[in-house]
Amino acid sequence: MMKLIGRLFGESNQKAIESLQPVVDEINALEPEFESLSDAALKAKTDEFRRRMDAGESVDDILPEAFAAVRESAKRNLGQRAFDVQLMGGIVLHQGKIAEMRTGEGKTLVATFAVYLNALAGKGVHVVTVNDYLAKRDPTWMGPIYHGLGISLACLQNNASWRYDPEWAEAEAQAQREKDPDSAPGPADPMRPVSKQEAYATDVTYGTNNEFGFDYLRDNMVRDLSGMVQRDLHYAIVDEVDNILIDEARTPLIISGPARESGQEYRRFAQLARQLKTDVDFTVDEKQRAISLTEDGIGRVERALKISNLYDPQHYALTHFVENAVRAENLYQRDRDYVVRENEVIIVDEFTGRMMQGRRWSDGMHQAVEAKEGVRVQRETITYATITLQNYFRIYEKLAGMTGTAATEAEEFYKIYKLDVVQVPTNMPMVRDDASDLIYKSEAGKYKAVADRVAELHAQGRPALVGTVSIEKSEVLSDLLTRSNIPHQVLNAKQHEREAGVVAQAGRPGAVTVATNMAGRGTDIILGGNPETVDITQEEWQRDHDRIVEAGGLCIIGTERHESRRIDNQLRGRAGRQGDPGSSIFYVSTEDDLIRRFGGERIKGVMNFVGLDEDTPIENRMVSHAVESAQSRVEGTHFEIRKHLVDYDDVVNTHRDVIYQLRGKVIQGEDLRAEITGMMREALAGIVTERLTGDPTNWDIEGFQRDVTQIMPLPPEFADADEMSGMDKGEVGELLEQSAEVLYEDREQQFSPEVMRNLERAVMLQTIDGQWVEHLTAMENMRQGIGLEAAGQRDPLVQYKRQGYEMFSGLMDRINQDVVNTIFRVALNEQPAQQGGRRQAPAEARRPAAAGVAARASAMAGGGTAVSAVAERHGARSAAAGRKKIGRNDPCPCGSGKKYKRCCGR
Ligand code: ADP
Ligand code: MG
Repeated sequence: MMKLIGRLFGESNQKAIESLQPVVDEINALEPEFESLSDAALKAKTDEFRRRMDAGESVDDILPEAFAAVRESAKRNLGQRAFDVQLMGGIVLHQGKIAEMRTGEGKTLVATFAVYLNALAGKGVHVVTVNDYLAKRDPTWMGPIYHGLGISLACLQNNASWRYDPEWAEAEAQAQREKDPDSAPGPADPMRPVSKQEAYATDVTYGTNNEFGFDYLRDNMVRDLSGMVQRDLHYAIVDEVDNILIDEARTPLIISGPARESGQEYRRFAQLARQLKTDVDFTVDEKQRAISLTEDGIGRVERALKISNLYDPQHYALTHFVENAVRAENLYQRDRDYVVRENEVIIVDEFTGRMMQGRRWSDGMHQAVEAKEGVRVQRETITYATITLQNYFRIYEKLAGMTGTAATEAEEFYKIYKLDVVQVPTNMPMVRDDASDLIYKSEAGKYKAVADRVAELHAQGRPALVGTVSIEKSEVLSDLLTRSNIPHQVLNAKQHEREAGVVAQAGRPGAVTVATNMAGRGTDIILGGNPETVDITQEEWQRDHDRIVEAGGLCIIGTERHESRRIDNQLRGRAGRQGDPGSSIFYVSTEDDLIRRFGGERIKGVMNFVGLDEDTPIENRMVSHAVESAQSRVEGTHFEIRKHLVDYDDVVNTHRDVIYQLRGKVIQGEDLRAEITGMMREALAGIVTERLTGDPTNWDIEGFQRDVTQIMPLPPEFADADEMSGMDKGEVGELLEQSAEVLYEDREQQFSPEVMRNLERAVMLQTIDGQWVEHLTAMENMRQGIGLEAAGQRDPLVQYKRQGYEMFSGLMDRINQDVVNTIFRVALNEQPAQQGGRRQAPAEARRPAAAGVAARASAMAGGGTAVSAVAERHGARSAAAGRKKIGRNDPCPCGSGKKYKRCCGR
């Protein structure tokens, strides 16, 4: 079956590639014409293309010439002529697909073709990189190409942004020289610091997935337009696309803030978890990474917590605490799943070994691990905004990606992102020799064999790159190498810039580099080392290079099979660049995690049976095959997990779309008067329908008065119950509506229309944001609740969708109601806040919304007056008095001291 699919994939891939050839031919044919252009004429092409597009030519019409222009600019300004396969890659990217191109094929350059063509539309193009270092390196590197074509570019970093500006850099250097003629400044850094907005306003913006994603979330939290940084999301090219759209996509982006302190509780549960015993109090399912308490365990927990039934719904929170604590204690391993540094628990990506600074496990899991480790338990958090990378990248009008390893995940790319994968042929034939696995009985025997092999390679002057699956294992191996006196470098994907420097020289004769998967990403390994940064002459370099080629090139040694074949392929792909010789081999043992989980004991038994010792490996096709089928099973499980995450996020995503759109309207300054008065009319009509049913003698007049007072001061016509019962229902409705309009108009006169518009916007914004945050939390809690019930028969996702839908309608209703209830309550006071007096509403009754809103409205109004917020008496008090019935002769709830009928009830 796999073979058949493989063949079909191969055939359709072949077709896709063949269809690109004519376009490549066309670009090649244009080469002489573009070569003959002056620099200025080449640059002028960009304007010409833009004009022609305005006049109706399509992007595809322009493609061959645009690509010819980029190729020419790269030749002139970078000294590199793009190979035909690179042009193909560029077309694939332009088509909104994934170009699978091996390491060292020059994907950084490939991207510039699609970027340029799509930047012509003037809507901005994003190039997404895996780390900050590459986010700045790549535009600095490709800058001259774009610059030669008059295309602006910039990059985003975690806390700064830069724009590529060589003229500025030159002027700076000049000024420096004038100031101090003796100084010999190095090559000028062409990156000029700019605002984030400016970085996004350029034609091309480079940045990491997190930076782009968080900016999107932050843009949807801003209080006014000037705080927004992004434009519409037009086109993104994701470099190392498998890493970003698959590995990283397992953790959503979350913007959150602290909530109440409960470190004490976490510590208490961590202590409890330490007392529980495996297989007595709970059982572990390693495959699912789940634990379940046994009857004994449940009893023990109940006694410790002094409760009678842990699984009673009222104890949801407790069960959650307990389960997290037990999982933290038994499933989360220090230095494998996380590291502890400076009193903080930092997640280690299990696929890449990379530390995920700032990311936290959700649902209180992170706190549980902190409690286990005895470090400071960070406060629980409130989610202000969240999105999965999947849903963020799906917003782009067009998406494309490139990587050395995508084909094994083609199904996921298609199902989740609608991205096709096209395997672009290599520029030079690939000659790397991939050996089959060596299987050792014990882990110790395996490491010893690896160290011996590395020593051999080192002696031969062949460079070796040794891949490990975790930081911990890198260290084990490093110790072993140190003991054998083999000089080596260890990379852990912690310091991207330094690692790039090390990797650039990992191809030096006899160099030994031990690295986790992500380490030194984006830098390719040149046999003999990178001639530009190594401190030797050209002749010496050539001699080294030839010697290494002679010896067999770079040798890749894997020390463990990864859970995903793709990650293994990435490691292998480091060797054999651009037709270089090279080899790869994996050393595994029956004690490795993956092998252990899938029949390791059995293999070990066989090895014992035939009397193999620790140092003798077997090299068996069947075993290698078993390993690969284990991998594809684990890959399947991981896909399910990610799919699950997206399925759930999709539910919230529909809500997010609606809310962000609504918010967008408000932020963009849309006139909300009609909308808000409409809401008000609806709310008032609702009160009439609900309270005034049937015969006037049955009317709930007090209820009616109370409800109306929630929204606005009660019109005097309705103050007297007897008078009211004489009215007709339709009449009441009309009168109510009219009074509301008159009142609204009064306010508008009082405040001025401009202030009123701002007030409306502020009320809307405040309400939307407050309710949205609560909704996110509620949805999260609901999801967990469903998770706990999931053992039951109903499909949890279906349930989640159904309940989510109800909660969302509830959210929209609450937003309407809140807006309506607030709009008359906020007042702007031109003097400093009034002290004392009857206007001082009790703190708990004054809804924070009202105060914040007015302050914001004043900020939005922009006037210099000191405007302060006072919750108007009706609102403030009646919120507190919401449940009580107010008699006409009762004291007015606003606190004036007068009777209700003489005050607000008048
Ligand atoms: P990848 O991202 O595909 O692994 P890079 O973009 O890092 O590859 O490029 C690898 C190396 O190949 C770089 O040193 C780059 O300068 C070089 N390179 C790319 N394209 C060309 C070309 N057309 N001609 C010469 N060198 C090239
Ligand atoms: Mg690259």
